[in-house]
Amino acid sequence: MASLLKNWLPAFTKSARDNSLLWRLLRDSIPEHKNRYFLAVMAMIVVALTTASTAWLMGEIVDSMNDSDNRARVYWVAAAVALTFMFKGLASFAQAVLMARAGNRIVAEKQTTLYNRLLKQGVGFFSTTESSDILMRVTNSAQRARSVIDVIVTSVVRDSLTLIGLIAVMVYQQPVLSLVSLVVGPVAMFGVQKILARVREVMKQELKSIAEIIKVVQETATGVRVIKTFSLEGVMSDRMDQAVRNVEKRNNKIVRLENATAPLMDTITGLAIASVVVLSSVSLFGGQPASPGQLMSFVTAFLMAYEPAKRLMRMRVTIEHGMAGVRMMFELLDKPITLLEAENPVELPDGPGHVKFDKVGFSYTDGKSIIRDMTLDFPAGKTTALVGPSGGGKSTILNLILRLYDPQEGIIQIDGVDIKTASFASLREKISYVGQDTFLFSNTVAENIRIARPDATDEEVVEAARVAHADEFIRDLPNGYETKIGENGAFLSGGQRQRLAIARAVLKEAPILVLDEATSALDANSEALVKSALERVTEGRTTIVVAHRLSTVIHADQICYLEDGRVVERGTRDELLAKGEKFKDLYEMQLLD
Ligand code: ADP
Repeated sequence: MASLLKNWLPAFTKSARDNSLLWRLLRDSIPEHKNRYFLAVMAMIVVALTTASTAWLMGEIVDSMNDSDNRARVYWVAAAVALTFMFKGLASFAQAVLMARAGNRIVAEKQTTLYNRLLKQGVGFFSTTESSDILMRVTNSAQRARSVIDVIVTSVVRDSLTLIGLIAVMVYQQPVLSLVSLVVGPVAMFGVQKILARVREVMKQELKSIAEIIKVVQETATGVRVIKTFSLEGVMSDRMDQAVRNVEKRNNKIVRLENATAPLMDTITGLAIASVVVLSSVSLFGGQPASPGQLMSFVTAFLMAYEPAKRLMRMRVTIEHGMAGVRMMFELLDKPITLLEAENPVELPDGPGHVKFDKVGFSYTDGKSIIRDMTLDFPAGKTTALVGPSGGGKSTILNLILRLYDPQEGIIQIDGVDIKTASFASLREKISYVGQDTFLFSNTVAENIRIARPDATDEEVVEAARVAHADEFIRDLPNGYETKIGENGAFLSGGQRQRLAIARAVLKEAPILVLDEATSALDANSEALVKSALERVTEGRTTIVVAHRLSTVIHADQICYLEDGRVVERGTRDELLAKGEKFKDLYEMQLLD
């Protein structure tokens, strides 16, 4: 069965690549749900048989009405009609429900798989992939993949069998007329096919337009401040207008093309019935004229054959439509994970958190070196401040220590262990990170702090907030620690959000603190609170900080002046001031500020 299907696949797709993707989709999905599909196929066989039977019974109905004295025949036909319709209804119901259940399960499985794959991807993946694209792939592509499976199973089984059954009825009732219609039928279908080919063209563009709508809405949600402050409402509204109009235009075109088959088919149907009426009065090739029942049965079968035939013709278009989703889905699943955990990862030792760069070289994209041959010590328990012009590579150093990216050359060690060989869990356990802007989940304040250590008690959460000078403002919130934070912490100020981030770091109790100081100016009061909170949390920890504040620089045990991916000056504040070069200029400039 499997190999039979595999040989058929090229009939459904237009390229060898699609063909192998389709095979992979079916192989991944159907065996796991084979029981449901088996029952659905059984139900489809019943649907096909009962559909053909109804066409045949139409003849019996007409003939038995002409022969109404034969009571037995009338009752027999009546019972057969009632039963056939009942079975047809039941089988249609069973088939639809079974297919939908299997389909829904497949969508759920695929979405989970896609999302889990996303979670494994490194930060690099997310900075090079548009989030609207990711959204589209996770939500939409699994649905489309399911529709492809549905179409293949339904068309191959139900529609083909129904068509065969109906043709059998036609041939049985009117062999000669059937021959005629077998010539007319394909000609009509050729016309239908031509029209559907154009539908395919239009559908190709559809995905792109939908992606654009998602992108516009998403940029509006995330960029609302910029949109308002720069009065971009008009521009955004125009973009949205354009995007929805494109989708509207395409959908209208698809509907028009798809329904363009109706006038064609209706005309042919009319001609077919007319010719049957004429032919019924004459005998063909000297045989008996056909009975009204036979003709009725033939015409019914002929008319009923149109729907399954059309769906079979459409199958390629529908599959191609869905294949766009299947391609997108597998692209995401197959995207290599650039940042992998070591195969047999080690646990980092319970050390003091000594970080060391040994001849580290790194670039985000091929070609442009961002960190060059850097050998640098971050002594345990001390604070190292990274300073220097923007673009010098300061944040990149933090990214490397957090192992959000891997260096192409050299190694980074924590307490003597190469972080590439360490498990993600043990590495992340060692390091707390406080960034420039704090991402808050739409959850309560307490839960947002607790993410640092899920098993922390309420008292520990409050204590961490207290150390971070966050307790005061949290208690002023409407529900205190149980206040729900609006999406991405919309109603907390920058300073408050930072203090929540510091509370997380306090709660985590990791020996290493990686800190990207906020450049945005906080008000004096807020800055003093943040500063005091930071002093508490950095005490005794290996702190690596991208420093923008003079106070941080003054208190650092070691200052590294970075330029163009290299440390050009290193020492304590006094040493560097005595040296009187780049750091001194920077220092004096900040002092003036
Ligand atoms: P700094 O923190 O000193 O201002 P960064 O480490 O942020 O400098 O950036 C150093 C260089 O790396 C810059 O030229 C910046 O454009 C580039 N860069 C930073 N992040 C990325 C990224 N995700 N992808 C590609 N290039 C990046």
